[in-house]
Formats: sequence, C-alpha cells, structure tokens
Amino acid sequence: MYKVYNPKLRELPLSIQRLGELAYNLWFSWNDQAKALFARIDPLLWDQYVHNPVRLLSEIDASKLQQLAADESFLQQYRAVMQQWDDEVQAPSWFEETYPQYKQQAIAYFSAEFGFHESLPIYSGGLGVLAGDHCKSASDLGVPLVGIGLLYKKGYFNQKIDTDGHQLAETMQYDFEKLPIAPAYVRSASSEPTEELVITLALADRTVRLKVWHVQVGRISVYLLDADLEENSPWDRELTAQLYGGNQDIRIAQEVLLGIGGVKALRALGIPTGVFHINEGHAAFLSLERLREQLDKGLPFHAALEVIRASTVFTTHTPVPAGHDAFPLPMFDFYLRDLLGAYDSHRGDLTQLGLDADKNVFNMTYLALNTAAIRGGVSKLHGQVSREMFRKFHGNIGAEEVPIGHITNGVHLSTWLAPELRELYSRFLPGTWVTSQANKDQWAGIDLIPAESLWSVHKQLKEKLIGYARANLREQRRRNSMPADLIEEVRHYLSKDALTIGFARRFATYKRANLVFSDLNRLDRLVNDPDRPVQLLFAGKAHPADRPGQELIREVYRVSQMDRFRGKIVLLENYDMNLARYLVQGVDVWLNNPRRPYEASGTSGQKAALNGVINFSVLDGWWEEGYDGSNGWSIEMNNDADWLTQEKENTESIYRLLENEIIPLYYNKGALPVQWVERMKRSIRTLAPVYNTDRMVMDYVNKTYVPSLIRTRHFIDNDCEEAIKVADYKQFILQHWRQVRIIEVSDGSGQARIAARAAQPTKEVTATVKFGAVWYKDTAVEIVYYEEQPDGWHQRVVEMEPSRVLDDRTVLYRAVIPSHLKHGPHFSVRVHPISASFARRFELPLVTTF
Ligand SMILES: *Cc1c(COP(=O)(O)O)cnc(C)c1O
Repeated sequence: MYKVYNPKLRELPLSIQRLGELAYNLWFSWNDQAKALFARIDPLLWDQYVHNPVRLLSEIDASKLQQLAADESFLQQYRAVMQQWDDEVQAPSWFEETYPQYKQQAIAYFSAEFGFHESLPIYSGGLGVLAGDHCKSASDLGVPLVGIGLLYKKGYFNQKIDTDGHQLAETMQYDFEKLPIAPAYVRSASSEPTEELVITLALADRTVRLKVWHVQVGRISVYLLDADLEENSPWDRELTAQLYGGNQDIRIAQEVLLGIGGVKALRALGIPTGVFHINEGHAAFLSLERLREQLDKGLPFHAALEVIRASTVFTTHTPVPAGHDAFPLPMFDFYLRDLLGAYDSHRGDLTQLGLDADKNVFNMTYLALNTAAIRGGVSKLHGQVSREMFRKFHGNIGAEEVPIGHITNGVHLSTWLAPELRELYSRFLPGTWVTSQANKDQWAGIDLIPAESLWSVHKQLKEKLIGYARANLREQRRRNSMPADLIEEVRHYLSKDALTIGFARRFATYKRANLVFSDLNRLDRLVNDPDRPVQLLFAGKAHPADRPGQELIREVYRVSQMDRFRGKIVLLENYDMNLARYLVQGVDVWLNNPRRPYEASGTSGQKAALNGVINFSVLDGWWEEGYDGSNGWSIEMNNDADWLTQEKENTESIYRLLENEIIPLYYNKGALPVQWVERMKRSIRTLAPVYNTDRMVMDYVNKTYVPSLIRTRHFIDNDCEEAIKVADYKQFILQHWRQVRIIEVSDGSGQARIAARAAQPTKEVTATVKFGAVWYKDTAVEIVYYEEQPDGWHQRVVEMEPSRVLDDRTVLYRAVIPSHLKHGPHFSVRVHPISASFARRFELPLVTTF
C-alpha cells in the first residue's frame, strides 16, 4: 500500500523524506512535537491550511524545503520526532500484553463521522470527535481496531456569521489529493499494489460503486467510502457529498453505503473481523449485510441472527427521540430491495428487526438493539435513561434490569491537553503518567505543582485564546465589510484579567445557549462590574436544517452586539476542533446547561477539565457522575419539576453561583487566587484519570469486545453448532411459553401473622408453577420486592429454589424474604427463561408474573 499518495510528497529532499510518511499518519495530530515541526516549515501557511501537512508539503516552495533539508537545527527536530514515532509504533502495547490471544481478529468500528483533526473535515460535533478519540486511544493501546466511515466531498460545512447573526453554511469542495488520506489498493501478491480498490453494492434499483480510502491513525487503519466516481450516476455521486446533508432519501442511502458497503469493504480488504461495533444507529445496516452473509452460507435465519448478535456491540448516543433515525417502510423496502428480494421468505423477519409498529417506520436504533447482544449508553445517567426508553422491548421487568449498560465517554488526552500543561504536568507526575493515565495514583502529583506555575501557564493559554478570538472576530467583520473602526475595535475586545466563561457546542435547542441571557440586567451587573468583571465566549454550529438552533445563534449574536456587552460577550464563528482546543484550554470556567437528561454524555467539559478549566454544569451526562462536590460547580434544579420551572431554577442557580461563589473565589487574593488554583487541581486530579478515552477504550475491550470474541467463537465453532442450538431453543421457548403459569403463591400469612412477625425477621414464600412443555430448569423463578433506602426505593430480586416436583409439569418453589413485607402489592413472583448461552439475563421478552 502506498502510504504517501500525493506525488509531490514522494519527491521530498532525501534528508527529510519521511515527512511525507508523517503527513499521512494522523499520529501527528496528537503529537505536539510533530505539529511544531510542521508549523516550523511555515507557520503562516500551516495555519492557513488548517494544519493540513499534506497540503502544506505539496504547495510550499520547493526551495523552502531544500533550505530546511540542509538546516541542521530543523533536521535535529525532525529526527527527534521520527525517533519518537518509531519508538511509539514499536513499543509493546497494553492490548498485546493483556490479550495476546485476541490479536488476530479486528474489531470493526463503524461511524458516520470521525473527528480526528481539523484537517480532515468529516465530523460535525461530539459524536465524530468521540469516534476519533476512540480510534486514537485504540492506537495508543494497540487494540486491533479498524474504523469504517464515509468520505464526504464537501465535509460538513464552514460556518460564517453575517451582520444580522445569521449562520451562513459555506460548503467546500475538498481535493482528496491534498488531504491526509490515500486510496486503498486491491490486495495483490506483488509488494507494490497499484489497482485502487472499488467495491460494488446494490442500492435500491441500481448498482453503486464506492472507492475505498485509507487513513492511517497511528497504528490503526480507518477506511472511508466515497461514491464520487465517474462510473456512478450524477445523483449517486452526490450521495457522499455531505455529512448529514440532504433529505431522508439521501440519509438512508448514505446509511446503506456505510453499513452494507462497509462490510463489503472489509471483506474486499481481507481483514478478518471478529467484532462489529455500531457507533450510533446510522451504521446499523451492517447487521443486515452480515445476516445475508450467514444466510448465503446456508445458516437458518434465527441461527444467523444469533451469530450476528454475539459479535455485535452497539452504542446509542442520544436520549432525544428525534435523534434516532427512522425511515418510512416503503423507503426501507425500496433501498434494500436487493436484500429483501434475495430473501423474500424472510422479508417479514428482516423488517421486524427495525420495525416501529406504532409509527410504521424502520428505526435504525431498533435494528441495532435487535442485532447486538451488548448494548450501551455513554454515561451512567444515559444508560438509565436508555433503559427506560427501550424498556418496552424487554417484557415485564424493571427498568434497571433492561439489558442496556453504559460506558462513560472520555477524551483523548494527547489531543486535548495543551502542550504547555503537558510539559508542566510531566515535571510533577511519574514518567508513566500518559501511558497509565487511567490510573488515579499517577495523578496525585498534581497537588505538588506550585500554584504560581499552574496559574502562570493557565494565564498564558488564556492570552493565546484571546489573541485567537480577536483574529476570529476581526475576520468576521472584515468579511462582512464592516467599517474599519469597528474592525480595529476588536483589538480591545476581551481582557486577560477578567473571569472568562466558555460555552461552545452544537447549537441544538436542548443545550439552551441563551439560558444565561434570561435576565440581561443581572448579567450586565456581572459583566460590567468594574472590579470583578466577567466575560463570555460562545461558539457552535447549528445544523443547516435546524431553524430553532440558528435562532439561538442569532440571539447570542444580538446580545454580543449590545453596547453594554460589546467586547465582553462574543460569538466566535466556525467551531471546529482547532477552535475547540483554544477554548477548552484557555477559559476559566466551562459552562454547560442542557435540559436534563438530554445530554447523553458531553465531552467538551472533559477536555476542559484536563486543562484545569473548571466545569460549571447541570448535573447531566458525564457531570452527574464526575461532580464530587468540590471539583467544579453544579447548576441546581428540581429534576421532577416541569421544564419551565426547571429553566427558572437553572437560571437562578447560574446567577446565584456566579455571584456568591465563582466570582468571589476567582477574585480572591488578587493576582494569585490560591483557592481557585486549588479547585483547578482538584478538578484535574479527580477527573482526568477517569474521563479519558484510554479508560473508555479499555472498558470497551474488557466489557464488550473480548466477551463478544469469546462468545462468538463459542457460537461459530463446529459449523455454528451452538448458534443453531440457541436459536432452536429460543424458538421452542417462544412457542411454548404461553403454557408457563404461576398458579399459586403463599407466604403463610394466613397463620398467626402478628405473632410470627414479631418473633421472626424472615418468612418463607412458596410458589407453584406449571411449566407445560418448557423444562423447569430452563427458567428462573424469582421473588421481586422493593426496599426503601435513603436514596429511594430499590428493587430486590430473590431467586426461588425448586423444592418439590409435583408432577412432570408442575414444580413447587420456595424462598425466604424479610417478613415485614406483606403479601399483595409488596412482592411478586415471576418466571422467565434463562440459559447459560444467553448473553444476558433477560434475553427474551418473556416474563410471567403473579
Ligand atoms: C468536543 C467537541 C464537541 C462536543 O462537545 P459537547 O460538549 O460534548 O457537545 C463538539 N464539537 C467540537 C468541535 C468538539 O471538539
């Protein structure tokens, strides 16, 4: 495979030849020295080309390169970076050391967007950045992950703000030859493959070809699919034009390309894949393609489904109902007609996998849930919310028993931590602190950093941000042809001494960017306090079809233009990973006030925390578990109140905390606010070891990938013997479960109850269960009751033991529970099917309750 695609980069002077290789490995994006090396080549061009090294090296004057190739000091820096790279690539990895036996098979990670770096614009926001960070940590940890996504010719969009605060969505046309990507090649015996890989798939009534591109991300590969080929019809060429662009037809077509095309690409590349990770429902069609493969091999439908389920992991990312893609059934029939036609007898089964019968649509989240044995949300609270949301699929069980877990999101440390802070931390933390970042002990040394040192680096980063923000505003005004004095005025905007609050994220309405504007007079008093001023920076894009989101941008803009807020509340344009780095590294406080519980996790606050920026947030998403009472601030409210009341309470809490705690703490003790710095340290020390993607990816490996590999192996050995057995068993149980009935429950409450209760803390409960054709040992009979604890009512489940087989269909069970419970609503008895081969306790939605 050619690592260096652009011919210009293959002609670099010999002494700096490997810069080409480095430019084609996104490893540079999380290595401060590599970035500094590229910046040194030409700092202005480096910025102008959004830190894209391929473009830089292909467009810069050859004479400049010749000059550097002979510059000993540059060469030294170059050699140091290359050495570091070689060392890192060859270093033994966590995965190899922990799971050497699972190296052979890839874990395929499918995502509609990947945010690796500003130079590769195939992301829109948090979901993409998370996917990028996931891949980077997988590389650092040596996890055999391979990413699958789409390559968007126009990216997402560049945001411009006009003089009325309107968002203008400028679409670009990217020249793939100038991005850090290269074609993937057809496998061949010769060492220099030359034929670019193009795969073919059926889409609706036609055939579409997809070119496969390769992105090197440290040690791992990501493959991106591109429909912009001459062989495709003009409208099909547009299918991969834009991320989240276009109508429902384009959306479903994109998802077919991603899911089905992605599996085909992996096969064409010859990558043996053990686990498929669906990162958000967009990619769930991959399960249908994999089902087809199993059916083609002759496996019965239900056994095929078992194989797929065993080897699929699904992460859901949003509790907002509209965030789950769903398509009208005729649209599903049309776009998947090739598959449905080939397996006409299973048309019903296939449709059923994503059917939302209430709305008569095919729901991608349902498809993912039904085809993945391991499913989860992205924070503890989001797991809880998802269990409630999808409870209806799992029979009559408590929400806490719904088999949906969570792994809380994190961020990639080396991507988001400021180089200046990295250097400072390195002086006080053990040498292994980066590679062992998920170990809390490694971070104890944060306390040893002298307050002056941390504060002085922080102030430096704040000044960098202010400089960058002014340039951003100046460019906005220049482009909007504002008068020269207004352009010049920007020089005086923002102060390095004022308490600085950052608010940047997608402008989705539930994120309530305007909440802090609820009482402008009160805000005015804070912002314009002569002794203790506050300033706010906003940034974020709204989806081009999201009118209310764009209205929020206008509102922020309007406020920023009011005389009393001019230069103190600013709206920066084109929020991307570059601007995000400046913001999360340079503000004092990171504000987040979503409508709870709509923020599934949120990650920008985690980026801020790494950098000693203190979180000030609603207890939603990750902050619900991250906040410990003294590592930031929580915006309070009554979770049970209606939205309007919550909004009022949130607003009041924001102002009150600012007035009474945040501002006084910041301005305490003049030039060096010791207590503030203490809080920064607490925030770093308690949050950085947990909310990083090394911890997150290790969790995914330990709790989802490896268990999936083990279970899949078990299922497919001996011509899928186990998968067939489990599928048959489930079919049998589903057919005969009607016969299972609990016919009698007794807790002896008829006899001398009062005396017995006083004397004994426990009582015996018996239940008589009739099983019909189902074998009683294939079930669990349980008592369920609720117990009051200081934090509310908790479900308790007590397994009942079979004590007597009454006849071949009826069994008497018994168990002992606390006697203060009375019969009736206080406890119930239930029976449900179990099997050692199930991935989880409630695998079938069959629960019979008495
Ligand atoms: C981290 C990041 C996000 C996600 O921020 P949230 O607070 O999780 O919404 C969005 N956009 C960019 C550019 C980011 O870097």
